[in-house]
Amino acid sequence: MIYGVISDVHSNYEALSAVLDYLEDLGVDGWICCGDLVGYGPDPDACLDRIRALKNLSIICGNHDLAVLDRLDLEWFNQYARAAVVWTRSHLSDANRAFLEGLTARLNTPDFTLAHGTPRNPAEEYLMSPLQFRDNVPLVDKWPLFVGHSHMPLLFRYSEADADKIESRFLDDKEEGLPRIYGGVMAPVALNPGSVGQPRDQDNRASCGLYDSEKGTFRVFRVPYDIGAVQEKIRAAGLPEYLALRLAYGQ
Ligand code: ZN
Repeated sequence: MIYGVISDVHSNYEALSAVLDYLEDLGVDGWICCGDLVGYGPDPDACLDRIRALKNLSIICGNHDLAVLDRLDLEWFNQYARAAVVWTRSHLSDANRAFLEGLTARLNTPDFTLAHGTPRNPAEEYLMSPLQFRDNVPLVDKWPLFVGHSHMPLLFRYSEADADKIESRFLDDKEEGLPRIYGGVMAPVALNPGSVGQPRDQDNRASCGLYDSEKGTFRVFRVPYDIGAVQEKIRAAGLPEYLALRLAYGQ
């Protein structure tokens, strides 16, 4: 199977549709979505309508989705994120709210594992360090583990040269990160496709990934989209100006 892998869409419809069109052209049989469908951006319903229509979709929710549903304390959010959560609550159709309510922040499938943050704390912890990766390894049954939350395209795995060391690095769009397969079994590897709707690695193009489960390969792609159109919608919706500005800087 070839999967399109997306995360942290954050109600950015222009970025989402650019990414889905790009991955569909590459030939995708299924989809993986690592949560944070809404929050920050101006188009929660348009994004959820499009995501719900994806075929063979494995999907989880993130901390922003949970906050919109009032299942996570807003105390954890900065003022901009909080304003967007409150705005989203009154700009979501009943059908899309019901869809979000049916999601969990962690999902085990026969082919891979999904967690928005980490397996041990899927709604809150950012997987950013080798130590965190090591601590979470015993909690995963099926590799690879796909995560989101940090809005950074990242890879974590045990080093090929020294099994005691963990390789932890940024993934750009020029290389294929290869999860290793030992004796037909996928070795532990955590993969973050980066953020579709609000990249934070100083590259303002939407980030996404392609996972080939037969070859065991994962690749990150960066896709340009109409940032100006989204900024105009953010301003027209009365959402904080900072949420418009940061898109241009990829922050
Ligand atoms: Zn997010």
